[in-house]
Amino acid sequence: MTQDEVRRRLEFYQDLGIKTLYRRPVSAGSVPPVDQPVIAPSLELPPVDRPVTIPSLEPPGDSLLKILEDIGDCSRCRLHEGRNRLVFGSGNEQAKLVFVGEGPGADEDAQGLPFVGRAGQLLTQMIEGTAGKEGIPIKRGDVYICNVVKCRPPENRTPQPDEMEICGQFLARQLQAIRPKAICALGSTAAKALLGTKDGVTRLRGKWQKWRDIPVMVTYHPSYLLRPYNQNAKKEAWEDLKMVLHYVYD
Ligand code: URA
Repeated sequence: MTQDEVRRRLEFYQDLGIKTLYRRPVSAGSVPPVDQPVIAPSLELPPVDRPVTIPSLEPPGDSLLKILEDIGDCSRCRLHEGRNRLVFGSGNEQAKLVFVGEGPGADEDAQGLPFVGRAGQLLTQMIEGTAGKEGIPIKRGDVYICNVVKCRPPENRTPQPDEMEICGQFLARQLQAIRPKAICALGSTAAKALLGTKDGVTRLRGKWQKWRDIPVMVTYHPSYLLRPYNQNAKKEAWEDLKMVLHYVYD
């Protein structure tokens, strides 16, 4: 392959917003060797004139530890710039149920753990309160909790599509490694990332959807439920959670 072809292919990846898969910046004078990707050792570069999807990053025998190692001191997207701690996920690695949120807030960024702020306290109450009332003996530590993006977006803004795409690869690997019986998507960002839909929570909630072959229940994000005027949404979220808990644990 000529240097020109190499450069064109790398520019193609740049256009897709995944140039940060490569450790070194691409410039006319310094083309990184195409056979040394940092994250995807078996990445095959497609021809430049064909559309591509972002390559699968799920190696055989994957595990949460390996995913965490691969994430490393991540700087693949702009969100790393304001990060204090990367928030990978927490809970039971063999959980039958995984909750997926949007991205870390200030408390999560400070502690390196998902859902530890006010929304997190409500999520804990929702899980343990609903399970308790329904006679299902589980605690928060029995499930696994993670987010679409692992670094806090500035001012808690919604993650941008390229950030979701880049970090979404790791979310997909987490879900595939755990292979829970069901997934609960908290809010529209998680729903969008998992289902690739533009539909909002109101339309999606209360009915089973699918991520690959795993059932997904979309429900309201706990931060939304903390707003005082969302009492009806709160009732609906509890109904969604009841359905999920019975499906998973009965
Ligand atoms: N909101 C989220 O979506 N995730 C967290 O971890 C905390 C708040």
